[in-house]
Amino acid sequence: MCGIVGYIGRRKAAGIVIEGLKRLEYRGYDSFGVVTTNDSLHISKKSGRISDGGSGAAGLPGTAGIGHTRWATHGIPNDQNAHPHLDCTGKIAVVHNGIIENYAELRRDLTARGHTFSSDTDTEVIAHLVEEQYAGDLAAAVRAILPLLQGSYALLVIAEGDDRIIAARMASPLVIGVGDREFFCASDVTPLIDHTRRVIYLEDGDCAVLSCSEYTINHDGMAVDRPVEEVDWDIQDARKGGFSHFMQKEIFEQPQVFYNTIHAVRESPDALAHLVGSRMSIMIVACGSSYHAALLCKYLIEVYCGIPVRVEIGSEFKYYTPPLNVPVIGITQSGETADTLAALKMAQAWGCPTIAITNVVGSSVTRIADATIYTRAGPEISVAATKSFIAQLAAALQIAGSLSDDPGLEEELDRVNVMIEDTLTVPIDDAVALCTQAHSIFFIGRGFYYPVALEGALKMKEISYIHAEGYAAGELKHGPFALLSPDTPVVALAMPGKTYPVMISNIKEIKARGAPVIGIGVAGDMELPEIADIFIPLSPSHEVAGIAMVSVILQRLAYHVADALGCDIDKPRNLAKSVTVE
Ligand code: GLU
Repeated sequence: MCGIVGYIGRRKAAGIVIEGLKRLEYRGYDSFGVVTTNDSLHISKKSGRISDGGSGAAGLPGTAGIGHTRWATHGIPNDQNAHPHLDCTGKIAVVHNGIIENYAELRRDLTARGHTFSSDTDTEVIAHLVEEQYAGDLAAAVRAILPLLQGSYALLVIAEGDDRIIAARMASPLVIGVGDREFFCASDVTPLIDHTRRVIYLEDGDCAVLSCSEYTINHDGMAVDRPVEEVDWDIQDARKGGFSHFMQKEIFEQPQVFYNTIHAVRESPDALAHLVGSRMSIMIVACGSSYHAALLCKYLIEVYCGIPVRVEIGSEFKYYTPPLNVPVIGITQSGETADTLAALKMAQAWGCPTIAITNVVGSSVTRIADATIYTRAGPEISVAATKSFIAQLAAALQIAGSLSDDPGLEEELDRVNVMIEDTLTVPIDDAVALCTQAHSIFFIGRGFYYPVALEGALKMKEISYIHAEGYAAGELKHGPFALLSPDTPVVALAMPGKTYPVMISNIKEIKARGAPVIGIGVAGDMELPEIADIFIPLSPSHEVAGIAMVSVILQRLAYHVADALGCDIDKPRNLAKSVTVE
């Protein structure tokens, strides 16, 4: 999830592009780069943050330029992999946000046709493809190659001797800013609103051509008009894309994150091979929300693939290392979680193959593990994990799908992003009102929904500061029943499946102790709405969609309760995003 910015007009481009990129650093800051053009291209790019090292680019001449702040997906964060990327002639430059899924094949073909690559990125293929088509009209060349690209892109292209910026998008955001004889483009409106409030949101499949005097937009070979909209956001609103908090924004990004991640995992055959090779058993090590994702991974692989999976908490593993002779997976969002890193090193000392599941390219865990599976959540600003958890769940589901003999499971996964989308607007106001009054909340589930309950409780306690416990539903009567009262709501996850009847019995037992129950189940359920005080109906197409949907409902519940209580949602007290100490 990189940030891209372009400018063309009367003013010097470099400074405008650099300031714009600083506004987009929340989208990634592995490296940055700027290219401007007058008679020739002028480039400055390097690893690190633009806010720390961007001044070197400020002197680049020219009144047209494009720039990039990177969140690496293909190729480690270093100077060579920083955008812009050039073709063989050095006369065409590209910045890109997204993933070209068929880049390996394109790169093979381009190499066979004599092109030389200078980076490990997927992006670079675009520059070389444009080079092959370029015969003096950059817009025509870009339009010609877009059908060859599979995956997602927002891209900006410039070429020496061509006074235009070509912009195209497919499943990655891109906005044009309309000024007075000057035009801007960027991944979102934040870099634009210092200069203009008039913006055009490009649509998937659009290809725009910007010059100093005009812009045109093309779609499927036809010129199209897109409405010019006025934005009245201040800069803070704009960074949050109109959402009140980053956490809310990140919850809403989850359909895309889920989709991106299952495709990324499908592209990780090396890592999957380690697991396929050992069908005997697997161990997973993780901490916090990643531990809950690990538990889900265990249930999924055991149920769908019949492979035994053991899960360990990273901080325990280090001091109580079980005898090991199986592949060990470490799940860590940041790739820097100290306990998980230590555990993987110990597993290696035992001679076990190690696999990392992480969201950050080039992070420490990727250098330790034998193979890495990347989740594609993009940078997560809010401390509480939401989209990074859903990305880990997507990875777990896709691993189970890849190892399972049932091809239907992978097909189901292709529908889950749409189901998550539906879940974002399911009404939960009554449940929020009830929880806002509580001093303590229980979350209960069985099977797949036990880890979901643990994660729901963690979310609630970390951002609303209300005490919350996640329990396997059958365990509540072994002690916690003593705490049940009319002030202690119980969120019961009663989705269809073999545990449904026993969940209903558990809910009746809880009701008999006077605790109010929020039942999360499926639309059309006749029994749950009768016994639960509040019923939240969902309509999953399959049980794997249900896991993601209930997870999202519980994130929203925690978010809205914390919001109603006036908590500092994105920066909860005493917590940090990446736990790099033991
Ligand atoms: N795939 C490109 C890279 O790795 C762009 C990354 C992104 O937009 O997330 O450099």
